[in-house]
Amino acid sequence: MSRAVELRDVVKTYDLGGGFKVEALRGVSLQVEKGELLSIMGPSGCGKSTLLNMIGGLDNPTSGRVIVGGIDITDMNEENLASFRLERIGFVFQSFNLVPTLTSLENVELPMILAEKLSSKEATERATDLLRLVGLGKRLHHRPSQLSGGETQRVAIARALANEPSIIIGDEPTGNLSSEASSKIMRFIQHLNRTLNQTFILVTHNPSIAHASQRMVYMSDGQIIKKPAPLSETPSKEVLLKERRELTLAELEWLRKSIRNLEELRTGTRPDLYKQSMMEYALRWALLKQSIRELGLEV
Ligand code: ADP
Ligand code: MG
Repeated sequence: MSRAVELRDVVKTYDLGGGFKVEALRGVSLQVEKGELLSIMGPSGCGKSTLLNMIGGLDNPTSGRVIVGGIDITDMNEENLASFRLERIGFVFQSFNLVPTLTSLENVELPMILAEKLSSKEATERATDLLRLVGLGKRLHHRPSQLSGGETQRVAIARALANEPSIIIGDEPTGNLSSEASSKIMRFIQHLNRTLNQTFILVTHNPSIAHASQRMVYMSDGQIIKKPAPLSETPSKEVLLKERRELTLAELEWLRKSIRNLEELRTGTRPDLYKQSMMEYALRWALLKQSIRELGLEV
């Protein structure tokens, strides 16, 4: 049985002209087995979408090899890539990308009609089945604008399944959904992954979505990296104490300066402002004195 995806040392460089280049992928190697549910995580701009574009045959790499469902698509021309995409890949994007003027049924039929493998009657039957599978049997004739975000994304998933793709790739598929709708879609994707053995590769920002997948891959700066350290580890007591001392001293300095400036206000034309500031500073000074005592600062 062939692998779902095999990337070998894939480099993608965008030439911006005038000698400017962006290295979006800097040597990525990745294997995805059939039936896996894989999440790709990483900060904005690290190359996640570019990686999905390589796997989905939306673009050619600068170097390296891209093998999807046993087919080497590295050097395919646009015409062959177009039929590869239609027959082998299901796409689910953040912004849904359904045809707004078509009903759910017509949107799901479309890839089957384009692939010309089924008669139009068979395409309608399969589209109906798929929409039932995603729980939208009662929304066959709704247009995207008449559906909720979660429902729209389920239509997109039904459409992605239409031509029995080797892989479904999703670029932040839950990015535009409420957290409730996101976890519902994610449970649904897990269900399809298990029952149909459907391979999914998802890019997500959302750690809880990523945790619902079997495997996570992290990217940084155009490369796959080992699991990164958590962004904010709880600082030690010593660090917190040092930080509090610094903040207290900084506030003390600020207060001293403010009180010096108060002299000017006293002789000015706004006695009300002077009184108000005095009261405010007195209060702050009382609080600050307490912190200074607690921290054992000598001032
Ligand atoms: P991510 O999806 O992780 O946010 P992308 O794969 O979209 O990152 O982008 C990776 C890098 O490549 C970014 O610096 C981005 O600006 C650049 N990039 C992406 N697509 C293009 C393009 N078509 N032309 C030029 N630069 C691009
Ligand atoms: Mg992206």
